[in-house]
Formats: sequence, C-alpha cells, structure tokens
Amino acid sequence: MENNNNPAAEESSNFIHSQIDVELEQGHKRQIHTRFPPEPNGYLHIGHAKSICLNFGTALKYQGLCNLRFDDTNPVKEDTEYIDSIMEDVKWLGFDWEDRLHYTSDYFHILYENAVHLIKEGLAFVCELSQEEMRKYRGTLTQSGTPSPYRDRPIEENLRLFEEMKAGKYPDGAMVLRAKIDMASPNIVMRDPVIYRIQHEHHHRTGDEWCIYPMYDYAHPLSDAIENITHSICTLEFENNRPLYNWIIEHSILEARPRQIEFARLGLTYTVMSKRKLRRLVEEGFVSGWDDPRMPTISGLRRRGYTPASIRDFCQKIGVAKSNSMVDIALLEHCIREDLNYNAPRAMTVLRPVKLVITNYPEGKTEMLTGDINPEKPEDGQKEIPFSREIYIEQEDVMAEPVPKFFRLYPGNEARLKYAYIIKCEEVITDENGNITEVRCTYDPTSKSGGETANRKVKSTLHWVDCATCQPIEVRLYDHLFTKENPDDTEEGQDFTDFVNKDSLTVLSNAVTEQWVAKEPKQSYQFLRQGYFALDPDSTDEKLVFNRVVSLKDTWAKIQKKN
Ligand code: ATP
Ligand code: MG
Repeated sequence: MENNNNPAAEESSNFIHSQIDVELEQGHKRQIHTRFPPEPNGYLHIGHAKSICLNFGTALKYQGLCNLRFDDTNPVKEDTEYIDSIMEDVKWLGFDWEDRLHYTSDYFHILYENAVHLIKEGLAFVCELSQEEMRKYRGTLTQSGTPSPYRDRPIEENLRLFEEMKAGKYPDGAMVLRAKIDMASPNIVMRDPVIYRIQHEHHHRTGDEWCIYPMYDYAHPLSDAIENITHSICTLEFENNRPLYNWIIEHSILEARPRQIEFARLGLTYTVMSKRKLRRLVEEGFVSGWDDPRMPTISGLRRRGYTPASIRDFCQKIGVAKSNSMVDIALLEHCIREDLNYNAPRAMTVLRPVKLVITNYPEGKTEMLTGDINPEKPEDGQKEIPFSREIYIEQEDVMAEPVPKFFRLYPGNEARLKYAYIIKCEEVITDENGNITEVRCTYDPTSKSGGETANRKVKSTLHWVDCATCQPIEVRLYDHLFTKENPDDTEEGQDFTDFVNKDSLTVLSNAVTEQWVAKEPKQSYQFLRQGYFALDPDSTDEKLVFNRVVSLKDTWAKIQKKN
C-alpha cells in the first residue's frame, strides 16, 4: 500500500452509492451534500471513522460537499476539549470540511421559530404531564397511547406558555413542547414526541441565552434542511425515527427535503465502542486517557501508530451494510500491518537483552555491516550496522538446557546473527536463580555475506544489537483491552469492565535498539521478529518510548486462508 493521504483516490461503492446512482440516472440534478454530525460529548472512535469515511467519501466520489456539524443540543455533557479533538481527528483522517463547520446551536433561533410555526399550525402543544405520567400515557408496542389531557389546549395558550418557557418562567421539567402527531401510531416514536425541554443550563456556545433546548429528533432533520443536506446518513438504530424525521421536514418552514438513509454501525471484537463506556474506562482509570494506545479511539489508534491510510483502508474493507455485525479486530490489525510492511524501515531491537560475548573476535574492533533499510522498498537503500565483540540478544533466544524443538542458542549449537556471522554457543552463564547473565560464543569469520561459508545453513537467525553503540529505549507491548470477544454481552450482575484485560500492557524498560533509530524522520519501524513499533509522545531526550502497533503474525490472513 502506498503511503498516501489522499482519500479522493480511494473510491469504493456500497448500497448508498447505488441509490445515489439511481437518483442521478432519474435526473436529480442536486449536488450531493452529506454531513458528519458528532455530539461533542467524547472522543471519536473507529466506529465514527466508518461514518466519516462514508460521509466525506460519498461527497468526494460525487464531487459533492460534506459538512462537519457539532450536534450540541445537550448543554450538560458537552465540552470544547471534545470539539477540538474531533476536528483534529477528522483532519488527521484526511478529510476537509473547508468552510462548512457548523453547530446545531447556531440554529437555535430558527428551530425556535419553526416550533412557533408548528404551534400556530396546531401541530405542537405544551404538555404538563410529568415524565412518569407521560410514560404511562405513551402506551406500549402492543397497546396504543392515550392522548395527553393538554393535547387540545388552544393555540394562543400554547404560544404564551412556550414563550414563557423560553423566558425562564418555569423550572426544569415543569412542562415540555410536544409535536402533535398520532397517539395511536404503531410506531411509538410518533406518539406526540417531545421536541423541547426546559433546562436551566449554561451552554458552551450560547451561554445563558436559552433555558429551553430542542430534542435531537427535532433538531437533527431541521439542521440537515438548513444546511441543504441531500443524504442524511445515520446508523440503523434510527430506522424507527425515520417517519418522525420525515414528519418534521414535511411540516417545517424550510424548503429543503433531505432524506435519511441508515447503515449498520461498526462493532469490533475485544473492544467497546460507545462513548459512554469509553468515558468510563478513562474516568475509572482502566486506561491512561482517551488516547491510551489500547483505546479504539482515533486518538488512541494514532498514538498506537496507526496511519490514516490504514484506517481508511479498514473502513473500505469492511464495507457498508444494512445489518449490524461484529468485525474481527484482526482485520484492523491486518490493515496497519500491510501499510507498515510497505512503509516502515527495519531495525534490530532487543526487547529483553542478555549480553553475548564473541570470545574469538578481536577486542576493540568495530566493523560496519550492511542491511536493507526496507526489503519491500529497495529504493530506500541500505544502512550500516556496527558489529563488535559484545552484543545483546533476546533472553528467549538462548537456553542453558534446551527443551525439545528449541533450535536457537544453547551450548554446542549454532545460529546466524542477522546481517552478520554464524556463531556457536560455548557457554551459558547463569546466576544463583538460574537466570542467564551472559552467553559466550565463538564466530566463524568466513560466514558473513560474501565470505567462503556465507551460505552455510543453520536452523535459526537471530536479531542482535551492538553493545557499544546501542541506545536504550522503553518498549510498550499491548494486548486486547478486553478478554471477552464481546464485552457488551453481559449477564445480570456483570459489568463490561469485569472483562477488562489486566495484562493488556507490558512495559519493557531495558530494551535496546540501533543507534540511528528515531533520528530518521520516519516514526514507525519494523523491529525484526518483534512487530511494528511507533514512537510514543512520552519519549524524552534521555529515553525514547515505543509502542508496539502490531506483532508480525497476521491472524487475519490465517483466518482468510482457512475459510
Ligand atoms: P456513541 O454511541 O459512541 O456515543 P453516537 O452515535 O451517540 O455514538 P455521535 O457523536 O452522535 O455518537 O455520532 C456521530 C455520527 O457517527 C453519527 O452519525 C453516528 O451514527 C455515527 N456513529 C457513531 N458510532 C458509530 C459506529 N459504531 N459505527 C458507525 N457509525 C457510528
Ligand atoms: Mg449520540
């Protein structure tokens, strides 16, 4: 995969595009106009990325437009921290709303005016039932509702009360404005839904101007109409709300006729996706923050070392369907692995070092070996790797007493050092607890590339780092955040946090890598045999910190082969 950040070049098709194609064939001349409408009450996650790619991608495909709209109708839960992070994430994914950044709160006056219009048309009324009473009057799936005793209030009285609600005359919950639709509708959503509520709350953008706030189901279609949205793409759980969406549009003072189209939301194995649950993970300290590299948030994935291209590739691979399903997290990992396999320079890094001394190598000598920077991209050239008498290798590559089928280093056995020589293990030194403290070997001077015995076969090839020139680094390894495939699937008395994986983070603070690593502009590397790694912002001048993005083992490709 090329490392590009040009989503326009990544065309795809889905059932929504098929519908648009039909509309275009039928002669609809309007410019396609979509929007991404997050509520600024948390950080964006990979599910939002699916929606972003779909909305912005559709606009790009049809030379249309896509807006970014903050759905900020709930004054209590919203925060400018979230607004900033959402803008950063959408941009980072490679999309551009140009001058079309909107806030539902910018429309509060039109929404109010429209509500007054509904009242005047006899299509809305002020209701004083308590929440509890309203629930009782609403009926059930099998039983139709009962009209509110306030339903037939005179229009003049409704106008006066609604104005007084706005003027702050009544406390929270005293009354609401409801649309007058159909209490007998089989669709509960249509049984005189609430469209305004009283909330004496400070709003982060409108301050104390309003103490009544519109409900989502009312504000959303109108905001779409105000912005001339043609296709209002939302997730499947809003399917039942579509008749209400259409009702609000039909009876509005606005001209535009946006259309709602639903698609399946993304679910990923071994993670949770709702902002409410992600917030709990942050607030209850299960992770270090919204951008913890184990989080399915865009900021977490970015910090982990995911690239925008890999996330867009993932969104394209999963497609857009009409029924909800769970996607294997291995597919997401597959996408970044493909990207980094092509783009990441290779380095040798020893995660858990043990010292190895080559006893027949001259003391004080250092020679320069060469290796490919990236075998997938020969044009990236070669690098020099210093080699001397003392090197570090992985603890797990050596055993004092080998178990069956262990083919790496043990007394008497040979292995090849990557880019370098064949060595033979002469002695494994252990401390009183049996831990290996040093390995002593001899080398075959003719076995390096170009030498007489260069092609001699041995069973294993080990990575290593030269002791004299290496740089110490910290490495953080990650596992799934949850131990259960679907942590949302809880039984009574269980909570999704019961399934948090306590071993999802391993910190290795004594790792060592080649000297040039991270002095290059590239920030992601393949550490040979260990996976792909990206520099973490916790890095300091004294010590670099690397996150493992993914290991090398492609479980997704394996699953595909089996099927
Ligand atoms: P959450 O349940 O995580 O809070 P939400 O739907 O309440 O999500 P919004 O901020 O309202 O979050 O979502 C903005 C847009 O992103 C909406 O159009 C919504 O449909 C879409 N979206 C949210 N979650 C997903 C998901 N898992 N898959 C696809 N689209 C999603
Ligand atoms: Mg929401």
